[in-house]
Amino acid sequence: MEHKKETHQFKAEVVKVLKLIINSLYSHPEIFLRELISNSSDAIDKIRFKSQTETGILGKDAEFKIRIVPDRKARTITIEDNGIGMTYDEVVENIGTIAQSGTKAFLEAMEAMKKDTIAPELIGQFGVGFYSSFIVADKVTLVTKAAGTKTATKWESSGDGTYTIEETAKKGRGTSITLKLKERGEDEADYTDEWTIRDVVKRHSDFVNYPVVMDVERDEPIPDAELLKDSSGEPIGETTRKVKREETLNSMKAIWARSKAEVTEEEYAEFYTHISHDWNPALTHLHIRFEGTTEYNALLYIPSKLPMDFAVRERKHGINLYCKRVFIMDDCRELMPEYFSFVKGVVDAPDLNLNISREILQQDSLVRNIRKNLVKRLFDLLEGMDSQMYEQFYTEFGPILKIGIPTDPDNRDRIAKLLRYQTTRSDGAYISLADYTARMQEGQEEIYYITGEHAATLLNSPHLERLKEKDMEVVLMTDPVDEFVVQVLRSFEGRKFTSAEKGDLSLGKVDEKKRHEFDGFFAFLKEELSDKVKDVKASTHLKDSLACLSGETYDLSPYLEKIMKATGQKAEPAKRTLELNIEHAAVANIKFLYEKNGKAPILKEYARLLFDLALIAEGSKVDDPARFSKAIGSIMAEAITAEELIEGDAIEV
Ligand code: ADP
Repeated sequence: MEHKKETHQFKAEVVKVLKLIINSLYSHPEIFLRELISNSSDAIDKIRFKSQTETGILGKDAEFKIRIVPDRKARTITIEDNGIGMTYDEVVENIGTIAQSGTKAFLEAMEAMKKDTIAPELIGQFGVGFYSSFIVADKVTLVTKAAGTKTATKWESSGDGTYTIEETAKKGRGTSITLKLKERGEDEADYTDEWTIRDVVKRHSDFVNYPVVMDVERDEPIPDAELLKDSSGEPIGETTRKVKREETLNSMKAIWARSKAEVTEEEYAEFYTHISHDWNPALTHLHIRFEGTTEYNALLYIPSKLPMDFAVRERKHGINLYCKRVFIMDDCRELMPEYFSFVKGVVDAPDLNLNISREILQQDSLVRNIRKNLVKRLFDLLEGMDSQMYEQFYTEFGPILKIGIPTDPDNRDRIAKLLRYQTTRSDGAYISLADYTARMQEGQEEIYYITGEHAATLLNSPHLERLKEKDMEVVLMTDPVDEFVVQVLRSFEGRKFTSAEKGDLSLGKVDEKKRHEFDGFFAFLKEELSDKVKDVKASTHLKDSLACLSGETYDLSPYLEKIMKATGQKAEPAKRTLELNIEHAAVANIKFLYEKNGKAPILKEYARLLFDLALIAEGSKVDDPARFSKAIGSIMAEAITAEELIEGDAIEV
């Protein structure tokens, strides 16, 4: 089927991305070249991998290369590769639409940043690589021929909402992309200049696995035999001539295959940027050469920041799997559990079967072995970090690490030791559970914790009053997953986790006689509030506050309930128990009132107020704020006695 020249409309989201790219300012416009070289390298990876099983697919064109051809006069730069190429349909699919969910995430991130400078780390991370051509070009022409096919496809666009596509002829397999460069400002780099190109390739693409070549012109001495000479043997005229030679611009060092001693810190850092497209330096790296029954090299990095596209499921970067330096696949999830999914790097396993598929990979004992070793080494690395580095790590990746608690029972204890929390006594610092247990009060058996959104609110929770009085430290858990973490862990080093807000606290003796004095009054309140609470009882938590609400030990906490509601999940609000502080004068007075006249209408109001005060204390909303506010207003009016008004004394609160 022949394809005549057609003009197509870009999808709306592509138009948006292009507009952003074209109209933005760039701190590093040169990254367009890195993106295109990286695409070429991926395309060569693909054909190289395919050729392992489809012999003959390479034909005579078996020397992989990425070629850069600048043309100063025409103001163009062309990037060519002999990779896998694309068919007509693939061009429409890959270049015309950018179907990846990354595009959406990219747009959202851009809008969130509201800046007119695109952070360089955004491009590439979000899979808008090819479109970065429009940073420097006002027209892009792509000619490509898929391996094993006869006709080629030409695609062209000025980034203005449409592109043209047609069938064309091309000599060899692969893709060639020509950028017609924009008019250059005075102090802008010239991407047709040999030294500019060399510099950009060296900086951003040095570790690309294939030679990035360019023809360069040099003055070379003319060989003696070819020189024109006079009678005395002295040369006449030029002694040098211009010669074009192909030069490789990148070093292609597979640094993971070298020994640690041979790799400089600078090379580690450059390699990280190369594989991660992360503009921030890595937090730390781990270079392993494993020799034994399983042999492999691994170079892993822990980033310093959570990547912006981390939530995007289809994110590409993670572990790249190689076999004897032949690329097998990127984002090899089989090698890294989800709770370490932020780790980036390369694993090269020479014993691996090259034809391995993802399905087989999961069951492959070699792969499982490597994964187990890598995980162990990562734990060693984390445990060995100094506190400052670990804190930085934990702030970024702590919530992801916690995923391992329910999902990896074998390493649960190791992860539990790596958890860090603020506590009622840590002064804002994050401490380990081991630190907590080491300084438990004498006679304290349990680890007390409370969950909620903000440490500051938790610190003042009325549930903690009795514990504070006894000088018992309470762990403040502010991450939504903590609730699950505690439920799965149940204990740490033999100490049970005990919620400070759910169930009763066993903190010394309770005055049973005094408790019983409240039985009648509490039964009345329970009846009054029957649609809101399941019981009313004397509190084991409160010291200064009037009231709080508490659940059963395995009920959802109010915080989790709030999160589940916010995320659209069904959360049956469990009715809770209203706990009252029987030492508090207000509670005692209302009881007194009740005993004098159990039918007084004000009692209903007070019952409701006690419940609302308990809600407010935990940061929840009262059902009817206007009514609450009015009730407090009239109580305040009554509290200010005539006497005080006459004397003009301010009331001390
Ligand atoms: P990404 O590379 O992040 O997927 P791009 O927008 O850069 O996003 O490219 C989109 C797709 O176009 C690639 O996934 C690939 O399938 C195809 N592509 C881009 N450049 C080339 C190339 N040089 N050779 C073959 N295919 C390519």
